[in-house]
Amino acid sequence: MIVGASIGGLRTAESLRRFGYDGRITVIGDEPHRPYMRPPLSKAALLNGVEQTELALPIDASLDVEWVLGTRITSVDLDGQRLLDEHGDIHEYRHLVAATGVRARRIARRSAVDGVFSIRTLDDVTALTARLRPGQHIAVAGAGVLGCEVAATARSRGCEVTVAGSEALPMQRALGTGLARRLSEVHVAHGTRFAMGARISHVETEGGGRPALHFADREPLVADLVVEAVGSRFNTEWLADADAAMPHGVRTDSSMRVHRRSGGTWTNVYAVGDLASFPTLLVDGDHANVQHWNIPTETARRAAQVIAAAHAGPDQEEQAVAARFAPLPSFWTDQHEARVMSYGLPAAATSSELLESGDGPEAIYGFFRSGQLTGVCGIGMRGKLAGYRNQIADRLKAAS
Ligand SMILES: Cc1cc2nc3c(=O)[nH]c(=O)nc-3n(C[C@H](O)[C@H](O)[C@H](O)COP(=O)(O)OP(=O)(O)OC[C@H]3O[C@@H](n4cnc5c(N)ncnc54)[C@H](O)[C@@H]3O)c2cc1C
Repeated sequence: MIVGASIGGLRTAESLRRFGYDGRITVIGDEPHRPYMRPPLSKAALLNGVEQTELALPIDASLDVEWVLGTRITSVDLDGQRLLDEHGDIHEYRHLVAATGVRARRIARRSAVDGVFSIRTLDDVTALTARLRPGQHIAVAGAGVLGCEVAATARSRGCEVTVAGSEALPMQRALGTGLARRLSEVHVAHGTRFAMGARISHVETEGGGRPALHFADREPLVADLVVEAVGSRFNTEWLADADAAMPHGVRTDSSMRVHRRSGGTWTNVYAVGDLASFPTLLVDGDHANVQHWNIPTETARRAAQVIAAAHAGPDQEEQAVAARFAPLPSFWTDQHEARVMSYGLPAAATSSELLESGDGPEAIYGFFRSGQLTGVCGIGMRGKLAGYRNQIADRLKAAS
């Protein structure tokens, strides 16, 4: 049984079949849609409008999966191996995979405010694109990678854009100071305004019915539309009463099997994708939660490998659990003419340095932790970046 019908859920089902699992697979998801790609939501879909069919992830007709969509799981009894959904129906399972990801964190409102959007789901973006018009003033709350992608897309649609964020530079946490400065200069050259070092307090309607971002330390920013991109919350409410360790995401071992709060590990409960927090050498063997597009695929494959082996017998399970698992996190972002690629975990580094400098904003920065290259991030320069990526990948391979 898989809870969460997005990329993590789909990849788990596909990998189970690939590893020879011939049992029943049910995927339960609360969105009305079959799995679709989220990365285009802040890029092409926001620019050109959105159709579910264009974003849908292809699903092989022979996959043989039961999809239960538009249905939220509300609680789970891990000892009794039963899920309860919002309609009061009970779903029994042998193996459970939690793939419920995260949702957008929202800013406080003092009353109902029209014209405020978040950007996590297809429905969010359908609602936003229906209101977005050239010439409007868009206030983006949050200057992380997502907020800056929205800003670049809204500028390309001819909107006036102001981005407000708490750090000194946009995207500083994800990219480090040097690269963040270069990329923010690209945005400024395209006419985006930044209000940085800002402490956003709430969103409220101003006179004239326009939404406004309010701050603890400066005058309100009134706009035609506000887009909130201020981080995420884990979708773990359905696991709240379960014996599952959830300090920051759902904590697992390197087989994606969920740790109990009371100690030990469930042997038939797994977490994958944005929801999971798994051990990685990149943070010296500690746990990391990585919300990048490649991680649902990697963690789903790992969980499926172990489930299929457990289905086959105890010897196969032991072998599968002992197998290596050392995924290399990666993400990309397209903002105006700049393509940024990141490998490893730059945000976990304790120091960084410029490794390569190219034309205009092009550059590669290395990120170090315990004296080792733990992340690398670049604007352009893809060939050279691949060399540094391989260094991190080789280190992960050698150690596992
Ligand atoms: C706008 C946007 C742009 C992005 N761009 C990039 C990018 O450029 N590069 C990159 O690397 N990554 C990007 N990402 C991140 C990437 O999309 C995520 O890492 C990925 O979607 C995580 O997949 P997942 O299956 O773990 O979780 P999700 O995709 O979050 O799916 C979880 C699913 O579970 C459902 N669910 C939650 N609770 C329940 C419940 N109780 N019962 C049933 N179902 C439930 C949710 O509604 C959702 O459908 C982007 C994300 C967004 C939102």
